[in-house]
Amino acid sequence: MPPFNDGPIISVRMHMDMSVKIGGQPEVIRRVTKIYARLLIAGFALSPAFLIAYLYLFQDPGLKFEDHLFHEIAIAAATLEGIFVTYVSWRCYLSSGEPLLRWLTLGFLGFTLIYALHGVFTGMAHHNIWLFLLYGPASRLAMAILLLIGLLSFNQEPDAPEQRINPRPWRIWIAAFLLTDIAVAFIAYSAIAGSPAVRLTMEGGALFFSAVNIILMLAGRIRSPLMTIFGISIVLFGLSSLAFILGKPWNHMWWLAHAIFAGGFFFLSYGIIQAFHTTRSFSSIYNQEEMVNRLAMAMVRTESALQELQHSNRMLEHLASTDPLTGASNRRHFIERVDAEIARSRRDNLSFSLLALDLDNFKAINDHYGHQVGDEVLQGFVQKCLEEIRPYDSVARMGGEEFMVLLPQATLEVAVAIGERIRSATENAVFDSIVMPKVILTVSIGVSQFGRDGNTIDTIFRAADERLYRAKDQGRNCVITT
Ligand code: GH3
Ligand code: MG
Ligand code: MG
Repeated sequence: MPPFNDGPIISVRMHMDMSVKIGGQPEVIRRVTKIYARLLIAGFALSPAFLIAYLYLFQDPGLKFEDHLFHEIAIAAATLEGIFVTYVSWRCYLSSGEPLLRWLTLGFLGFTLIYALHGVFTGMAHHNIWLFLLYGPASRLAMAILLLIGLLSFNQEPDAPEQRINPRPWRIWIAAFLLTDIAVAFIAYSAIAGSPAVRLTMEGGALFFSAVNIILMLAGRIRSPLMTIFGISIVLFGLSSLAFILGKPWNHMWWLAHAIFAGGFFFLSYGIIQAFHTTRSFSSIYNQEEMVNRLAMAMVRTESALQELQHSNRMLEHLASTDPLTGASNRRHFIERVDAEIARSRRDNLSFSLLALDLDNFKAINDHYGHQVGDEVLQGFVQKCLEEIRPYDSVARMGGEEFMVLLPQATLEVAVAIGERIRSATENAVFDSIVMPKVILTVSIGVSQFGRDGNTIDTIFRAADERLYRAKDQGRNCVITT
């Protein structure tokens, strides 16, 4: 997750606390439901044990279902599925580089390459039963070992990209699996093939490694959703080995063992597909609680980013429409407002007025007191204007020491009165400056009214400007309307 600054993180934490309180029931209920959920998972994983116990106690030893074609079709389906799951796991591994996924891919690959021969040699069951039988436990043993190594690599650093695409280790593993195939055939034709110890060692080994896997998972408190699927599958693989140990070829226990194993294989494949469709990894996938919290955090961050954006938009709007020295509107924004006022006046058959203002002999103030005092006087003048106008009027700095005031719904008489107020307030004001106190200032004002002096922005601006020049001609410090 990208880091975020101090502001949002505080609100994120507050939000998370809140979400825990809202979603959170009393602590006892929360704990009890968590334990219940774990018991449910354990119950689900161990449910085939009931069937195993049932068959162990009540199976009729005479009942057998020896159907070679059915067995061949089942193993062919398992092989095809094995190839597909190997491929999807490998794609996940290429993407995330997670060592666990490398071992899972190898586990599926090894299983598929060894188990396929169990199907291929179905027809040999009457010639050499061991050639047919031993590939099953051998494939399960190989997979159990590889899955255990996989668990041991859980949460390890991902493999480097060039390591992921290096074909050499894969070739070596494929060679090892094919050698295992040859070794199993060799054992099947050797004198020790008939010894129950051979099959028991392999199947018992698979059971043992699955059991170690589960113990390590429980001890390590590994409980992420995908690893829970992994764990349940391992329990099912272990139970299937137990059923194979208790079963005899073609009897019900033996077929049940196949079914339990298939259940584990399906469920683990489901986990692989989940990884493929999400993070392509088994470790960096979140449980629902974490997802909800992450979602809440993301929403809080989005909300605060939106607020920041709205704030900076308002700032930008303000900057784009304001004169930085005085805080009055700038020319562009003022023209927009006058345009809007013209549209409103036309629509509602109203009128409005404008004042054009120019400070008198301002150059002299600058020359006398300096530019900085001049700036402060400009600021003070805008403040004076704001004090004298109505809340819905607006002042703009049109440039230099020239200003305009927009007076919505004001007739010429009202506008003259407001202009006169500004003129008199300016004349009587004492502009205190930090640098140079007590500057005396006057202002000349021209007034025009929309409708009376023109119907366009140009004509009413020009009328106000002409009257302003007339005010200058007439000796300054006055308000002129004609
Ligand atoms: P009049 O009464 O005829 O308007 O005389 P005036 O001196 O005000 O007019 P003139 O156009 O000759 O001078 C305007 C002065 O305003 C000149 C310029 O230095 C000053 N001025 C324009 N913008 C600023 C500003 O942002 N800050 C300061 N301090 N002075 C400015
Ligand atoms: Mg001037
Ligand atoms: Mg001027």
